[in-house]
Amino acid sequence: MRSRLAVLRQDKCHPDRCEKECYRFCPMVRTGNETVTFDEKSHKAIISEVLCEGCGICVKRCPFNAITIIGLPEELEGKETNRYGPNGFVLYGLPIPREGRVTGLLGPNGIGKSTVIKILSGEIMPNLGRGEEVGWDEILKRYAGSELFDYFKALRDGSIRSATKPQYVDRIPKVFTGNVAELLERTDEKGMMKDYASLLGIDKLFEHEIDTLSGGELQRVAITACISRDADIYFLDELTPYLDIYQRIKVTNLVQELSKDVTVFVVEHDLAILDSMADVLHIAYGIPSVYGVITSIKGVRTGINEYLSGYLAKENIRIRDKPIKFEAHHPRDDTGGNPFIIYNSFEVSYDHFKLNAQGGTIYEGEMLGIVGENSIGKSTFLKVLAGKITPSRGDPGIETRISYKPQYIKADEDITVQDLLSSITQEFNSAYYRSEILKPLQLEEILDSSLILLSGGELQRTAIAATLSREADLYIFDEPSAHLDVEQRMQATKVIRKFVENNNLCAMVVDHDIYMIDLLSDRLLVFDGKPGEWGRVEGPFNMRDGMNRFLKMINTTFRRDEEGRPRINKLNSKLDREQKAAGEYYYVLEG
Ligand code: ADP
Ligand code: ADP
Ligand code: MG
Repeated sequence: MRSRLAVLRQDKCHPDRCEKECYRFCPMVRTGNETVTFDEKSHKAIISEVLCEGCGICVKRCPFNAITIIGLPEELEGKETNRYGPNGFVLYGLPIPREGRVTGLLGPNGIGKSTVIKILSGEIMPNLGRGEEVGWDEILKRYAGSELFDYFKALRDGSIRSATKPQYVDRIPKVFTGNVAELLERTDEKGMMKDYASLLGIDKLFEHEIDTLSGGELQRVAITACISRDADIYFLDELTPYLDIYQRIKVTNLVQELSKDVTVFVVEHDLAILDSMADVLHIAYGIPSVYGVITSIKGVRTGINEYLSGYLAKENIRIRDKPIKFEAHHPRDDTGGNPFIIYNSFEVSYDHFKLNAQGGTIYEGEMLGIVGENSIGKSTFLKVLAGKITPSRGDPGIETRISYKPQYIKADEDITVQDLLSSITQEFNSAYYRSEILKPLQLEEILDSSLILLSGGELQRTAIAATLSREADLYIFDEPSAHLDVEQRMQATKVIRKFVENNNLCAMVVDHDIYMIDLLSDRLLVFDGKPGEWGRVEGPFNMRDGMNRFLKMINTTFRRDEEGRPRINKLNSKLDREQKAAGEYYYVLEG
């Protein structure tokens, strides 16, 4: 029986660039045991979990931090669902999809969520942790007497039709050439495609070529393509990246509607959206890239609250030191401080779009949240502040050095994360840079990785670090939450805030994750208008006025649960109507 887990990150093991420290320093090898051997083809290390004594010397000696060795929690033994080869990532447990419900899966990046989808959709057969293929008979034997038995039997018999919305929509243009109509017609199995497309506002894009779409448009096309299939179970792997809040709520309603007589399974990191979309959820915990455990089913409210509290009660597992908490009452009105940037009103006119910006003051050390629908002029506004666009009327009248993280991050250079960051800042080797930027953004582990091989979340964290590494007065982040998990969103928020406060600078963050906006902003800039036609930016407002203005525009109110967490109200529910009448869309009334 295995009592130890030895996991080797294949992407980090570079036998051509090391001295085989894992082998040379292993005390077991020195006494003549074949504890560490090397793959004949790849020359990468193979660590025997049976022979390994768990001394941890190889873990410390490996120059690329490719090895993790842990004592396996007893209760997990024998619960392996899948293992990606010897010394590969191990998944324990599985969620149980239930008909007529939206089942959510919540957990950090690299914990096995997409693997779960691959297994439940039949893309890969679970190997029960053996690291090599096992047959259906064995799989069924393993799940005999459990709720998953019938599911796997149906998978084996090919009687489950599933449809999947993949995680990374950015990859679609690489595998499909043609226009939107051509893509969508291929999956229109229920004859509902046109209805879905118009509900999601992409019906005007049918003639557009796929490779010309924005991220938000691609996301909606991908969702439409998936739910248009005639399936028993739909897997939606992250729905919200690049969508604005308005679109996120529309997708939520559509998914809820869809789930009435089928099974829907969602992975999502926007907790306000997951909360209102899912009926039940499973949490995934463990060590990213090493092992992941899927919990049993939880109610969606309690599940999210447990996750935020940092402690999973039933499992008796602590997943974070500190809880994440929200202020139920709106924070004090801004107390001002030293004005740092004062900009004047201006206008930008394009052929089909007009932006009107009111002047404003930003204070030293301040974090401004920016909220507004897509195509309403947010980027145009920021480009004027950065001096990249000359306004058609007026002039912001500032000379501000801006460091800008765009919404879509390109990685077309084959250089490492370290090469990139050290080429931007001389601080790279300082203790400060390591402890305030690299460590909290979890970049230390990927310094040696090439930009072109990074995952979406890794690239996002690299881009945030790169933006903070440039010298500027104003730091702007366009949708930093995309592809980050909940922990990483909170860490990114902290890193930016500390940087801005310590250096008396300021930052603006455009984001559509309302919890993230809540946690990071001192005040809000609010965009109003008609997407693609005109936009108006007002503020900065204090949090209460800003939230009320913005949420009124998108006709959405939030209530508070017993823990003080904001939850989206159902449209026209009693609370929704009461709060609208009182004009309180987000914060709890004082008194
Ligand atoms: P999540 O969706 O939660 O981010 P994934 O299920 O994609 O996580 O991946 C979990 C872990 O499994 C990651 O560390 C990843 O490197 C590893 N992994 C994923 N797919 C494979 C594969 N085909 N072969 C080997 N390892 C894989
Ligand atoms: P957001 O950042 O809020 O998504 P943008 O500022 O990027 O919005 O765009 C607002 C509108 O202005 C969109 O309809 C867009 O098509 C249009 N637009 C942006 N840049 C240009 C340009 N250089 N020429 C013409 N129209 C533009
Ligand atoms: Mg995934």
